[in-house]
Amino acid sequence: MEKHIKEILQIIGEDPRRDGLLDTPKRVIKSWNELYSGYNQNPEEVLKTFEYDRYKGMVLLKNIELYSMCEHHMLPFVGKCHIAYIPDKKIVGISKLARVMEIFARRLQIQERLTDEIADCLIKILEPKGAAVQIEAEHFCMRMRGVNKQNSTMVTTTLRGSFIKDPSTRNEFLNAIRS
Ligand SMILES: [Zn+2]
Repeated sequence: MEKHIKEILQIIGEDPRRDGLLDTPKRVIKSWNELYSGYNQNPEEVLKTFEYDRYKGMVLLKNIELYSMCEHHMLPFVGKCHIAYIPDKKIVGISKLARVMEIFARRLQIQERLTDEIADCLIKILEPKGAAVQIEAEHFCMRMRGVNKQNSTMVTTTLRGSFIKDPSTRNEFLNAIRS
């Protein structure tokens, strides 16, 4: 792997033997191990549920900081994620929602799939009445290059179950994440 990164440095016009770059391949590998750590983890195992059938409202964790890498350019996309579900018989520790997002985000992604994968994981493990995920993110492949649109934000929303069927549930989610 170090050898390949040295080759890439040469291809972009650098001298991998110069002082400042000597340890760069090692550092890149270390940072990639973190940025792509989601491949070695199973988000379904993180969602330890427990039985509780009295709460009938929406559970929402909003403004979760999101960092992921776009699979088209291997550049970051950065923003916020909001995750909600309506429990049926199972609930989950709230921090686990952020952990699930983190595992999917620490892979090469497109924002649309990332949004779907989080929602589908909740549906599968929690068997809730509904699940909703919204991501707002800025894509550096667009900010730093290409069309250079620096202030645009991409918004993706995945709704499942009661968030599709019931407009008031959907509105409760959309209003709650707006404020
Ligand atoms: Zn991209």
